[in-house]
Amino acid sequence: MPGLVFLGGANSSLPHATTLRAQRTANHQFLREHSGAGRSVTGRFGHVAIIAFALAAPAAGIAPVRAAPPEAFPVATEIRVGGDDNQTRLVVDLTRKVELRAFTLADPYRVVIDLPQVTFALPAKSGDSGRGLVKAYRYGLVMAGGSRIVIDVTKPVRVDKVTMLDAAPGVPARLVLDLAAVDRATFMRTLAIDSKARTDAIKPAPRDVAPVASTDPRPVIVIDPGHGGPDTGAKAPGGEHEEKAIVLEFATLLRDRLEKSGKYRIVMTRTDDTFIPLDERVRFARQRAAQLFISVHADWLPRAEGDAQGASIYTLSETASDPNAARLAEAENRADAVGGVDLSREPSDVADILFDLAQRETRTYSHQFAKTLVGEMKSAVRLHQHPLRSAGFKVLRSPDVPSVLVELGYVSNKEDLKALLSAEWRNKAAGTIVKAVDVFFAPRVAGNGEGKARP
Ligand SMILES: [Zn+2]
Repeated sequence: MPGLVFLGGANSSLPHATTLRAQRTANHQFLREHSGAGRSVTGRFGHVAIIAFALAAPAAGIAPVRAAPPEAFPVATEIRVGGDDNQTRLVVDLTRKVELRAFTLADPYRVVIDLPQVTFALPAKSGDSGRGLVKAYRYGLVMAGGSRIVIDVTKPVRVDKVTMLDAAPGVPARLVLDLAAVDRATFMRTLAIDSKARTDAIKPAPRDVAPVASTDPRPVIVIDPGHGGPDTGAKAPGGEHEEKAIVLEFATLLRDRLEKSGKYRIVMTRTDDTFIPLDERVRFARQRAAQLFISVHADWLPRAEGDAQGASIYTLSETASDPNAARLAEAENRADAVGGVDLSREPSDVADILFDLAQRETRTYSHQFAKTLVGEMKSAVRLHQHPLRSAGFKVLRSPDVPSVLVELGYVSNKEDLKALLSAEWRNKAAGTIVKAVDVFFAPRVAGNGEGKARP
């Protein structure tokens, strides 16, 4: 996502001026190289996603792009962890040396390594568990040209050393990260110095960019596929199907269906397997003066808690409508921790907005759309027994953009998962959302004659 530059320091040599074309290429590359790898887009979704992008390209006036040759990016071939509860070393084998930057984050304790774009060709289930101070780790794309490894650690740590070693005959280039256990006070001190250095070293993010001006009077709708990159979202039993791929597939279809009507301008917060912080998604919609924000997710319920089923529509509220809604909001709000957001770069404008500052009018419109959506969806797809729910989702906090979060179903439920993976079901479900959007905008698009369709 252009503008989503939260890598800094050592990464200043990254190619920031990436074009859409380059991004698409990178995306093809990413999907292709990851099919079969355990932690990312796999199997049919990887392929379906590639086809979807190829189809979408002509509509946007851009010719389909061939995947970049595999050697375009350095390849991470193995990650090893050794050591104990006091000192732990993590080693990444790479086909060539890269620039890197490591930093720590608190609550939960994490170590983040930022790299230029790397192709991760690691064995399945790499990172599901660790050793010593390393509990687990994730990896993936966080922007075109930038990859990230997020390491969950068992306690406060200090980065003792982080280096790149040259390749030698028969030995690949290696990234070596040495971690040592420290107490929380030491950790927090380092964190403060660290983040000040980072903030000083980087130029401020474009926070208050003026809304994107346009003479196009059609309403802007932002579709927000949840998760991405190192943040996989919910995982279906067996680990093969991940929420981030399922929702991107669905959101892309929904975009195409809405665009086809010609009545709306549709933008997506992500069109590839990239991590985007929650605040960035909110800001994305606000900057475009969006008149509707639809975040697309799929839920998961631990087996011990039963077997929930069906789609739910969520709106923002201070108090959750039910305990499961509260649990879900908490899980979805954890996305930033999973993707390793660097809090020193967090903008305060949106993060500080309190619920009660959200304009009442916006909330009314959010509810109205959610209700319409439930009405349309119930005719075609299975809904949760209480489909209209609310909780404190960070991604729904725009004070001026009517926002809903659609949980398409539960990947933990067999029938729901089958539906989510079926093109027929996805078409039906997308069709009902298009209908609800038409109903929502009908009085404004057709009615006021001023070409200004703001709700
Ligand atoms: Zn989700």
